[in-house]
Amino acid sequence: MKTRRSLSGRAASPLAAARGCGAQGTARPTQNALLAAARDAATRAYCPYSGFAVGAALQADDGRIFIGVNVENASYGLTLCAERIALAQAVAAGARSFRALAIVAGARTPATPCGACRQVLAEFCSDRLPVFCAAHTGAAIRRTTLGALLPHAFRLHANRRNCRGVALRSNQ
Ligand SMILES: [Zn+2]
Repeated sequence: MKTRRSLSGRAASPLAAARGCGAQGTARPTQNALLAAARDAATRAYCPYSGFAVGAALQADDGRIFIGVNVENASYGLTLCAERIALAQAVAAGARSFRALAIVAGARTPATPCGACRQVLAEFCSDRLPVFCAAHTGAAIRRTTLGALLPHAFRLHANRRNCRGVALRSNQ
Protein backbone atom coordinates (compact mmCIF):
# COMPACT_ATOMS: atom_id res chain seq x y z
CA MET A 1 0.00 0.00 0.00
CA LYS A 2 1.38 3.32 -0.97
CA THR A 3 1.91 5.81 1.76
CA ARG A 4 0.55 9.27 1.39
CA ARG A 5 2.99 10.68 3.84
CA SER A 6 5.82 12.90 2.90
CA LEU A 7 9.32 11.75 3.70
CA SER A 8 9.11 13.62 6.93
CA GLY A 9 7.25 10.56 8.10
CA ARG A 10 4.71 12.74 9.81
CA ALA A 11 1.08 13.29 9.10
CA ALA A 12 0.99 16.81 10.43
CA SER A 13 -2.43 18.33 10.67
CA PRO A 14 -1.83 21.04 8.05
CA LEU A 15 -0.90 18.35 5.57
CA ALA A 16 -3.95 16.35 6.46
CA ALA A 17 -6.07 19.42 5.96
CA ALA A 18 -4.47 20.14 2.62
CA ARG A 19 -5.15 16.63 1.41
CA GLY A 20 -8.81 16.90 2.14
CA CYS A 21 -10.92 14.57 4.22
CA GLY A 22 -11.23 10.96 3.15
CA ALA A 23 -10.19 11.58 -0.41
CA GLN A 24 -6.98 9.55 -0.23
CA GLY A 25 -4.90 12.52 -1.20
CA THR A 26 -6.75 13.38 -4.37
CA ALA A 27 -8.73 16.39 -3.17
CA ARG A 28 -7.51 19.72 -4.44
CA PRO A 29 -6.14 21.58 -1.49
CA THR A 30 -6.77 25.18 -0.94
CA GLN A 31 -4.05 27.74 -1.27
CA ASN A 32 -4.28 28.38 2.44
CA ALA A 33 -3.94 24.73 3.29
CA LEU A 34 -0.81 24.41 1.17
CA LEU A 35 0.59 27.49 2.84
CA ALA A 36 -0.25 25.98 6.22
CA ALA A 37 1.72 22.88 5.31
CA ALA A 38 4.68 25.03 4.28
CA ARG A 39 4.39 27.07 7.45
CA ASP A 40 4.36 23.93 9.56
CA ALA A 41 7.39 22.58 7.69
CA ALA A 42 9.30 25.81 8.28
CA THR A 43 9.29 25.11 12.00
CA ARG A 44 11.67 22.25 11.25
CA ALA A 45 14.08 24.22 9.06
CA TYR A 46 17.76 23.85 9.88
CA CYS A 47 19.09 27.35 9.58
CA PRO A 48 21.55 28.03 12.41
CA TYR A 49 23.65 30.42 10.30
CA SER A 50 21.11 32.65 8.63
CA GLY A 51 18.13 32.23 10.90
CA PHE A 52 16.09 32.41 7.69
CA ALA A 53 13.67 29.52 7.99
CA VAL A 54 11.96 28.37 4.82
CA GLY A 55 9.19 25.85 4.40
CA ALA A 56 7.88 24.59 1.07
CA ALA A 57 4.90 22.42 0.18
CA LEU A 58 4.64 21.02 -3.33
CA GLN A 59 1.49 19.24 -4.42
CA ALA A 60 1.70 16.58 -7.08
CA ASP A 61 -1.05 16.07 -9.62
CA ASP A 62 -2.11 12.92 -7.79
CA GLY A 63 -2.78 14.96 -4.67
CA ARG A 64 0.22 14.01 -2.61
CA ILE A 65 1.98 16.85 -0.86
CA PHE A 66 5.71 16.91 -0.36
CA ILE A 67 7.35 19.28 2.03
CA GLY A 68 10.83 20.66 2.28
CA VAL A 69 12.84 22.90 4.54
CA ASN A 70 16.12 24.66 4.05
CA VAL A 71 19.06 22.70 5.41
CA GLU A 72 22.10 24.85 5.95
CA ASN A 73 25.67 23.71 6.25
CA ALA A 74 28.83 25.08 7.83
CA SER A 75 30.17 25.12 4.29
CA TYR A 76 27.58 27.61 3.15
CA GLY A 77 27.57 26.65 -0.48
CA LEU A 78 26.27 23.19 0.41
CA THR A 79 23.05 24.57 1.81
CA LEU A 80 19.93 22.95 0.39
CA CYS A 81 16.82 24.97 -0.38
CA ALA A 82 13.38 23.96 0.85
CA GLU A 83 11.88 23.99 -2.64
CA ARG A 84 14.45 21.64 -4.08
CA ILE A 85 14.16 19.29 -1.12
CA ALA A 86 10.40 19.13 -1.61
CA LEU A 87 10.85 18.45 -5.31
CA ALA A 88 13.51 15.81 -4.73
CA GLN A 89 11.30 14.01 -2.25
CA ALA A 90 8.46 14.08 -4.74
CA VAL A 91 10.56 12.72 -7.58
CA ALA A 92 11.97 10.00 -5.35
CA ALA A 93 8.40 9.00 -4.54
CA GLY A 94 7.52 8.77 -8.23
CA ALA A 95 5.77 12.09 -8.74
CA ARG A 96 6.48 13.76 -12.05
CA SER A 97 3.88 16.50 -12.44
CA PHE A 98 2.63 19.09 -10.03
CA ARG A 99 -0.31 21.34 -9.24
CA ALA A 100 1.00 24.05 -6.99
CA LEU A 101 3.82 25.19 -4.75
CA ALA A 102 3.63 27.14 -1.52
CA ILE A 103 6.54 28.76 0.26
CA VAL A 104 6.68 30.37 3.67
CA ALA A 105 9.76 32.47 4.36
CA GLY A 106 10.74 35.91 5.50
CA ALA A 107 9.76 37.76 8.62
CA ARG A 108 7.22 40.12 7.10
CA THR A 109 7.73 40.16 3.36
CA PRO A 110 7.10 36.97 1.36
CA ALA A 111 10.18 35.56 -0.30
CA THR A 112 10.18 33.89 -3.68
CA PRO A 113 12.28 30.89 -4.77
CA CYS A 114 15.91 31.55 -5.63
CA GLY A 115 17.05 31.34 -9.22
CA ALA A 116 18.46 27.84 -8.85
CA CYS A 117 15.19 26.52 -7.48
CA ARG A 118 13.24 28.16 -10.28
CA GLN A 119 15.31 26.32 -12.85
CA VAL A 120 15.04 23.01 -11.02
CA LEU A 121 11.27 23.41 -10.70
CA ALA A 122 11.09 24.11 -14.44
CA GLU A 123 12.39 20.60 -15.06
CA PHE A 124 9.11 19.13 -13.84
CA CYS A 125 6.62 21.99 -13.65
CA SER A 126 4.94 24.00 -16.36
CA ASP A 127 5.05 27.76 -16.59
CA ARG A 128 1.48 27.74 -15.29
CA LEU A 129 2.41 26.25 -11.92
CA PRO A 130 0.82 28.46 -9.26
CA VAL A 131 3.31 29.63 -6.64
CA PHE A 132 2.00 31.00 -3.36
CA CYS A 133 4.45 32.88 -1.16
CA ALA A 134 3.82 34.08 2.37
CA ALA A 135 5.90 35.47 5.19
CA HIS A 136 6.01 34.00 8.66
CA THR A 137 3.96 36.88 9.97
CA GLY A 138 1.46 39.07 8.26
CA ALA A 139 -1.32 38.27 5.88
CA ALA A 140 0.32 39.34 2.62
CA ILE A 141 0.44 36.56 0.08
CA ARG A 142 2.23 36.85 -3.22
CA ARG A 143 0.53 34.78 -5.91
CA THR A 144 2.54 34.17 -9.00
CA THR A 145 3.47 31.42 -11.42
CA LEU A 146 6.66 29.65 -12.28
CA GLY A 147 6.55 31.21 -15.72
CA ALA A 148 6.41 34.69 -14.23
CA LEU A 149 9.31 33.89 -11.93
CA LEU A 150 11.40 32.30 -14.67
CA PRO A 151 10.35 33.46 -18.12
CA HIS A 152 11.83 31.61 -21.08
CA ALA A 153 13.09 28.82 -18.84
CA PHE A 154 15.76 26.54 -20.21
CA ARG A 155 14.23 23.13 -20.95
CA LEU A 156 15.27 20.10 -22.92
CA HIS A 157 12.43 17.96 -24.14
CA ALA A 158 13.42 14.66 -22.62
CA ASN A 159 10.82 11.99 -22.05
CA ARG A 160 10.99 12.68 -18.36
CA ARG A 161 7.52 11.55 -17.42
CA ASN A 162 8.35 8.02 -18.46
CA CYS A 163 11.78 8.14 -16.93
CA ARG A 164 11.76 5.64 -14.10
CA GLY A 165 15.42 5.00 -13.66
CA VAL A 166 18.15 3.01 -15.28
CA ALA A 167 16.95 -0.39 -14.05
CA LEU A 168 13.52 -0.01 -15.63
CA ARG A 169 14.85 1.46 -18.84
CA SER A 170 17.22 -1.45 -19.30
CA ASN A 171 14.26 -3.84 -19.21
CA GLN A 172 12.36 -2.12 -21.96
ZN1 LIG B 1 16.50 27.92 -3.75
